[in-house]
Amino acid sequence: MPAPKGRSAAQARAAIQAALGQIGFCLPGSITIRHARCGKPRCACAADPPSLHGPYIQWTRTVNGKTVTRTLTPAQYQAYAPWFANARQLRALTAELQALSLEEIARAEGWAKITPGTPAPPRTRPVRGPNPNYPKPPKTPGDQPA
Ligand SMILES: [Zn+2]
Repeated sequence: MPAPKGRSAAQARAAIQAALGQIGFCLPGSITIRHARCGKPRCACAADPPSLHGPYIQWTRTVNGKTVTRTLTPAQYQAYAPWFANARQLRALTAELQALSLEEIARAEGWAKITPGTPAPPRTRPVRGPNPNYPKPPKTPGDQPA
């Protein structure tokens, strides 16, 4: 969320810092919930409307550059969902603090504009859909290519 108009950078930073201080346990990675058909023609999952198997709750994260998946029970998912939500909030706050810091260095150094990069660290894996690319922020004048 953008800082309200008229709020100083120091106030915005303090607000982010306060929110960071409230964050509890944070689990890395992402959750994918799937329902599936088994393929047996007489199964309920083949009926109309289908009653699919699942949910299969998969927790995916990266360990030493490798994707690691663990299946969670619905009870486990329910118990730890806040920890995943905390991690999402941490990523959002990190992105906010970085954007604010970029504004500050641009202001302090008299740079016209500075282009923010990826808004948050990439997730371990795209949850769904063939396109894992983040929408790229529009280029703004002021940055030079490296
Ligand atoms: Zn089935």
